[in-house]
Amino acid sequence: MIFAANFKMHHTRESTINYLNRLEDIMKEAEYPFKVILFPPSTALQSSSDWVSIGVQNAYPSSEGAFTGEIGLTQLEEFGVDTILIGHSERRQILGESQELISKKFSFFSQKGFEIVYCIGEPLEIRQAGEEAVAEYLWEQFDGIDLDYERLIVAYEPIWAIGTGRSATPEDIASTHNQLRKRISRPLLYGGSVNPLNVKDICSISNVDGVLVGSASLEVEKFHSMMSAVAPALV
Ligand code: PEP
Repeated sequence: MIFAANFKMHHTRESTINYLNRLEDIMKEAEYPFKVILFPPSTALQSSSDWVSIGVQNAYPSSEGAFTGEIGLTQLEEFGVDTILIGHSERRQILGESQELISKKFSFFSQKGFEIVYCIGEPLEIRQAGEEAVAEYLWEQFDGIDLDYERLIVAYEPIWAIGTGRSATPEDIASTHNQLRKRISRPLLYGGSVNPLNVKDICSISNVDGVLVGSASLEVEKFHSMMSAVAPALV
């Protein structure tokens, strides 16, 4: 089971270090059988430890160069970071990232051997149009993506569930993950308003291999309470 925390544009370098120290203590003590990945802002990148992997929320598909405002492989290597989030709906929608750019990022960072948490998700009107429309929309977001890449993790995050407090229903999650599983053998995460109250049920759905958590990951004790809600069911 994978627990991934996406800080987005929250936390500073100092508060990330405090969070990480506490999270590592929790992981050492509790010995949870989870892989934990933390995506802090780029200004707060740290090196991964045995307990927590650190990933970057975004990077440019190049080692270095004239790409004002971006960071690339050279900057990530300084921290030993080899995990990246690609395709998040906020980057697709707010930052206008095209599938072409997203697939370029995927190709570049997969060639460099990165672990890639690749996000897909449909807007509300597509969900309302039914399961077939959802499947068609989601498969288009895999254009140019190698589904057999060995360090791929897919995160299904319906856009209407992100940051809204309205998670997808267990039925919707189950049917979408079952569809994805037909073509993807890599881990499948669910993301979208996962919280301490719904995480146990979500993690018990078949073909859900973990969660990608935004808002509810921002306080370390809350993130911990989510792991402790799920751990007993795995024993
Ligand atoms: C996210 O943005 O990846 C996310 C899942 O956010 P939230 O948990 O706040 O819905």
